[in-house]
Amino acid sequence: MKILLLGKNGQVGWELQRSLAPLGQVLALDSKSLDYCGDLSDLQGLAATVRRFAPDVIVNAAAYTAVDKAESEPDQALRVNAEAPAVLAAEALKLNALLVHYSTDYVFAGDGETPWQESDPVGPLSVYGSTKLAGERAIQSSGCSHLIFRTSWVYAARGNNFAKTMLRLARERDSLNVIDDQFGTPTGADLLADVTAHAIRATRQQPHLSGVYHLAPAGETTWYRYARFVLEQAHAAGVQLQVSPASVGAIATAAYPTPAKRPANSRLNTQKLQSAFSLHLPEWQDGVARMLIETLEK
Ligand code: NDP
Repeated sequence: MKILLLGKNGQVGWELQRSLAPLGQVLALDSKSLDYCGDLSDLQGLAATVRRFAPDVIVNAAAYTAVDKAESEPDQALRVNAEAPAVLAAEALKLNALLVHYSTDYVFAGDGETPWQESDPVGPLSVYGSTKLAGERAIQSSGCSHLIFRTSWVYAARGNNFAKTMLRLARERDSLNVIDDQFGTPTGADLLADVTAHAIRATRQQPHLSGVYHLAPAGETTWYRYARFVLEQAHAAGVQLQVSPASVGAIATAAYPTPAKRPANSRLNTQKLQSAFSLHLPEWQDGVARMLIETLEK
């Protein structure tokens, strides 16, 4: 099997380099790759890469992920998050290749408290969410075989993320206030990559599995409770913190204005994924604790 991986150095892309390796020959690219174009803002170059390599599977882990910056760079976000996936989908269709793509809880407006199902109405609040939704729709309407995984609150041992930022701030500052009215589930890039490899195998054998799936671990939290969990783990591991876990303050979203609006309810219902692919999803705390051990050992 020939696999084209785009965005190889992102949180998810890095883990995919590991999880895809046993499936076949992987060509892994980033925006600066020289031999083949891996820049998603170069639509012609991207199409040429797919035609030349002729993969059986395309895995797109590249995206414009700067949620707040996207509000002032909507054209660039649209190109990378929607126009490039449209090109990948058109090329995948011609080759009869499977296209794997990642999307986000930010396609939802975030009202209510019920975990979102794949069939629920969407209503993005931000440019980032709108462009990711446009990417999903371009892939779905192309007619190519696809797996679109909507996920949330991604972290990894490599790269920057919320958990590492909380650790840094709790070491540097005297106080820390974190939003307590947005609900969701932290998702490890390693879990995303492992499920992706499993789902590729299954979908190659059973093409009817093509579709959109929600993918996040079990359980839910808020950013505030997530921050406290991270600091409790660090404290237990003997890390010196200026801000103790118990002294983290809980604030409302309104007290922390950002250029992009975020959904209050980012809970994802993952039943469809679990039953289609016979998967069990671990509690979110397991993966975060593991990532922290790796990070704190450095
Ligand atoms: P990262 O921001 O860690 O990685 C994104 C990658 O895309 C980076 O390596 C970046 O490279 C690359 N990229 C950006 N622009 C281009 C371009 N023009 N051409 C080629 N590569 C480009 O994101 P994640 O790994 O966390 O995200 C993976 C997927 O998951 C994305 O589709 C994202 O939308 C989705 N997702 C992420 C969430 C999160 O919390 N992070 C939550 C929900 C969904 P460089 O750094 O060199 O620009």
